[in-house]
Amino acid sequence: MSRDMAASSRPEARPDGPDGAEAALRLYWNDARRGRPGGTRMASGEDLDGRMMALALEAAREAAAMGEVPVGAVVARDGEVIARAFNLRETLHDPTAHAERLALTAAGRALGRWRLDDCSLYVTLEPCVMCAGAIVHARLARLVYGVADPKAGACRSLYRLTDDRRLNHRVAATSGVLARDCGEILSLFFQSRRSSAKIP
Ligand code: ZN
Repeated sequence: MSRDMAASSRPEARPDGPDGAEAALRLYWNDARRGRPGGTRMASGEDLDGRMMALALEAAREAAAMGEVPVGAVVARDGEVIARAFNLRETLHDPTAHAERLALTAAGRALGRWRLDDCSLYVTLEPCVMCAGAIVHARLARLVYGVADPKAGACRSLYRLTDDRRLNHRVAATSGVLARDCGEILSLFFQSRRSSAKIP
């Protein structure tokens, strides 16, 4: 993804004109296509979660570089990356452009189906109400997230939507994978935003 998103700094791909959102989406879809079956396959084993989360963190760093709140997500199947995405809310002027939502959409496109019951989602931050809803709708097999979100988390912190027996699907969830790194990138981002806001 680094290479692709680096391309966004080229004048023709900058998301700052009327076609900016389209340019950003194009980069994102191109990346999603590259990640489809036959693409990167990670070694299986007990550190698979850590490796996938490291990829989600890499995506979060790309978000930070674009001035977006750094949250990254990866959808994988059998240790293979299907799609990657990061938060693009500011760039796309889209309140629903959270990393998880974009990654699920990209994975559906890559696999040619909306049902992702053989896939796992790795995301650096505990999903919000919207994304937890999308995860249930996708019939996802497994959710792995890094750091808990006490203010908006809807998987364990505020709500337990992915584990609610009243809904028609429940998702096995694992939390705390690379939690310190996932939290640190967010703290650093908000710290730097606060300090730059103080500069007159
Ligand atoms: Zn969300």
